[in-house]
Amino acid sequence: MDQTFRDDLIFVGGQWQRGRGAPIASHFAADGALNTTITGASAQDVEDAIDRAKAAQPAWGALKPHERASVLLRISDGIAANIERIAWVQSRDTSKTLTETRALATSAAGTFRYFAAVAETADELLTVPRGDYTTSSIHEPLGLVAAITPWNSPIASDAQKIAPALAAGNAVLLKPASWSPLVSLELARIAEDAGLPSGLLSVLPGSGREVGNLLVEHPDIAKVSFTGGTDTGRRLAHAAADKLMPVSLELGGKSPTIVFSDCDTNLAIAGILFGIFSSSGQSCIAGSRLFVERSIYEDFVARLVTATEALRVGHPFDPATQVSSLVHPDHRASVEQYVEIARGEGGEVLCGGARAEDPALQAGAFYLPTIIAGLDNTAQTCREEIFGPVLVVLPFEDEADVIAQSNDNQYGLACGIWSNDHRRCQRVAKAIRAGTVWVNTYKQFSISTPFGGDGASGMGREKGRAGLRAYQRQKSIYEDMSGQPHPWARWP
Ligand code: NAP
Repeated sequence: MDQTFRDDLIFVGGQWQRGRGAPIASHFAADGALNTTITGASAQDVEDAIDRAKAAQPAWGALKPHERASVLLRISDGIAANIERIAWVQSRDTSKTLTETRALATSAAGTFRYFAAVAETADELLTVPRGDYTTSSIHEPLGLVAAITPWNSPIASDAQKIAPALAAGNAVLLKPASWSPLVSLELARIAEDAGLPSGLLSVLPGSGREVGNLLVEHPDIAKVSFTGGTDTGRRLAHAAADKLMPVSLELGGKSPTIVFSDCDTNLAIAGILFGIFSSSGQSCIAGSRLFVERSIYEDFVARLVTATEALRVGHPFDPATQVSSLVHPDHRASVEQYVEIARGEGGEVLCGGARAEDPALQAGAFYLPTIIAGLDNTAQTCREEIFGPVLVVLPFEDEADVIAQSNDNQYGLACGIWSNDHRRCQRVAKAIRAGTVWVNTYKQFSISTPFGGDGASGMGREKGRAGLRAYQRQKSIYEDMSGQPHPWARWP
């Protein structure tokens, strides 16, 4: 498998060219090495990409769904044939473990396959008429869609937007995060090789405030599909409101995990570790607030701390590694600052709370899995997303108490429940404000199951059959079957 970086070109409306914007350096945060420097998109590159997309989209949108589906299937096959290459590029770009980036690449292939199938099998509606006419409701592409993605799972986030948007007949202009632009460019090469018509996909690396903003405000962009932080999402929503443009927002989280005393504690501990510390906690759905029923609190937390201290922190290419480097030294600095805030609030750091001591890891942005106790749910540490390997643990008294504490937060993305009382699990699942609830498991995904958040975690849903419709507009058609003039319009 090729382990070299490509040239510095970006993909502007089907053409590989040097971007005319500021250069973007990609680093391997696990050891600080420079991966490569690519060119960034300029305002003119954005205009060129939009012009080419406008030229290409009508013919693509006019294809039959099964014809578009066949291209998506070839993209899926192209991803599947290049899992190792994609995983390597993404691990170098984000410092995620190869185990994880392989899984993300596999899921991206599945996403293209799924939306090919959805496009090909999505029915149009013949609705019930109330007169002598036929009524139907059909779906049309929106036109040009901007996709803006974060650095934490780039290939999966990209696929989750590009696949349904293309399947629905649109052109897509993708702006990847500045810390992780490389894998999106790999995906563009695969799409091109798969025969995606030129102009339908652009990958425009560049700063969010410049390139991202240009896309959001551009009059020819019909929708923005955004995944990222809540503050950015809010800014985008304002810009979208000015244009009266639909926007979907997949934002941050501070997801509660609830442990009842009757749970299987081994299952719960394994699920909690995976839920917060996999991806080094850099996951929107990380189970970062842990509520444990008071009767088992001391014992359970002690066991959890022991299990956390046994996690293997290491190089992302070491198959034994469970917790790898954070994406960037700046991001580690932000996590460190949060742990200092927690200490200042009176939090007790039960484990971690420091950089990795292993001399082999000193050049990287590693941070130890951290558990903090002794804080109230109203503390800043319990309220704000840290986006790192930091878990805060709190006791609760009973079902009503834990529902109230879980919901007392601006976010509403995900929740985990650990209990062997299935009626209670269902009750609590329904009472929690969250887009996804996992019962006796955590952080499991299926492309056929809708995903999204409420409150500060965003609006709109991705995935599932309805995921296609998020990139289409609905049109109703009435056709007269009577051949008679309307009785109201009488004239001599
Ligand atoms: P971010 O800072 O909001 O950036 C996300 C994307 O938006 C990047 O491509 C960024 O470009 C761009 N951007 C920044 N400012 C912009 C602006 N004014 N206009 C247009 N685009 C702009 O988020 P992040 O730090 O990359 O990602 C972490 C966040 O994403 C966390 O809050 C996490 O919870 C959330 N997330 C949510 C989900 C979900 O499905 N709910 C999934 C994954 C991650 P630059 O990189 O150039 O700044």
